[in-house]
Amino acid sequence: MKSLSFAIAAVTLALATGPARADLETISKAMGAPDTLQVSGSGQFFSVGQAFRPGLPWPKQNMTRYSRHDDYGAGASSVDYVLTRGDMLGGGAIPLIGEARTTGGVSGEQGWQVAYPVGTALAAPATQRQHDLWISPHGIVKAAIADKVAMREGGFEIVRPGKFRARATVNAENLVEQVESWIDNPVIGDMAVVTYYRDYKDHGGVKFPGRILQTAAGLPAFDLVVSEVKPNAGPVAVPSTIGPAVADVTVDKVADGIFFIHGASHHSVAIEMRDHIVLFETPLGDGRTNAAIKAAKEAIPNKPIRFATTTHHHFDHSGGLRAAAAEGATLIVHETARAYFEDVYANPRTLNPDALSRSGKQAKIETVGDMRVLTDGNRVLEIHVLKNNQHADGFLIGYLPAEKILIVGDAFSPRAPVTRRPATLNPVTLNLWANLNRLGLQVDTVLPIHGRMVKVEELRFEAGAQ
Ligand SMILES: [Zn+2]
Repeated sequence: MKSLSFAIAAVTLALATGPARADLETISKAMGAPDTLQVSGSGQFFSVGQAFRPGLPWPKQNMTRYSRHDDYGAGASSVDYVLTRGDMLGGGAIPLIGEARTTGGVSGEQGWQVAYPVGTALAAPATQRQHDLWISPHGIVKAAIADKVAMREGGFEIVRPGKFRARATVNAENLVEQVESWIDNPVIGDMAVVTYYRDYKDHGGVKFPGRILQTAAGLPAFDLVVSEVKPNAGPVAVPSTIGPAVADVTVDKVADGIFFIHGASHHSVAIEMRDHIVLFETPLGDGRTNAAIKAAKEAIPNKPIRFATTTHHHFDHSGGLRAAAAEGATLIVHETARAYFEDVYANPRTLNPDALSRSGKQAKIETVGDMRVLTDGNRVLEIHVLKNNQHADGFLIGYLPAEKILIVGDAFSPRAPVTRRPATLNPVTLNLWANLNRLGLQVDTVLPIHGRMVKVEELRFEAGAQ
């Protein structure tokens, strides 16, 4: 945090001394213009949208290895990095002990993310990776040349309608020194990102920064110390098969009136009440959650979705709350999250106005403390908070006592079959198990937000219990 604010002060000073007057071709020539670029290094990664409690800084992780490969002509980019836990609290899908590898990318409009340990590529939203490609030092110059944008005092701006806009500042050596961008974020709206490119070095005629620092929504997001740069290293490898599209849903009837809406990376559950539907989990954003809403209404015809809830405030789980609000549902969130959502829902959403902002409606938000029961007098859905879980404060589970069904977010994500006790137990799963015991919940079936529907035996193995 300290080194980042120091870096920002230094950059601001440098900019004040000499705005560039060059045109885009001069900038491109000064920077070199590789067709593709491979960059590797290490540093710090901050899990944006995964704060322990809403409003806290993004959790800091140690990025022990990072490599990135950009192909400007193909509009393709891939990343591959390994993280270990820095901050012990918060999300980011990094085990508290050991390391987590992330591989993902974009090619044109197709985004992907590899889910480990299974290693299959799943479809993922493309906007963030496209943003990262086109705000890179060479990416933004190429995009500006292709768009034939005009230079303005000390820089230039590119716009990708519905996705992001970005403004580059060029220094006295005609190198891109800072990019200020705004990207569409399903929770925050127009999210401000600032990226600083420092300590340029020459790599056979191609200039590239030795250090990249970034903030997202005003908080540290990324800090890379570059160790190797390879210009023109060839095209980006795109996975030969990419799993279901983000909006592809598969619906399984689990019990009478209980439907598991799965497919792609994040799932939901639709629960039938006498005269309405409860949608449990509203993932990613309008695209995924609207597909889940449609599937829920087909599975349970002629009833409105009256309530929608999310396991926790992390952006990948709560990004579809607004879609449910646009549908007319009352949102139920943990009491620690309400003020945050009310605050960010008032932000501008000019880049990609979502269904709620287009509707002109306001989200109606209710809360859960330790527990809340939703019932129609017959069906009972209990919502409980997991106490003392390191993943998130106000981390909720759903429980259907009559059906003995547990709905759980990131505390247990069975992708590969769990057939024995793992060598290292995950404290977040242990905490889930302890909470189930504390509450005396009798679970038979687990509906996880990530992974497969399983019997409780797999959770028992994963938690190291007998
Ligand atoms: Zn999470």
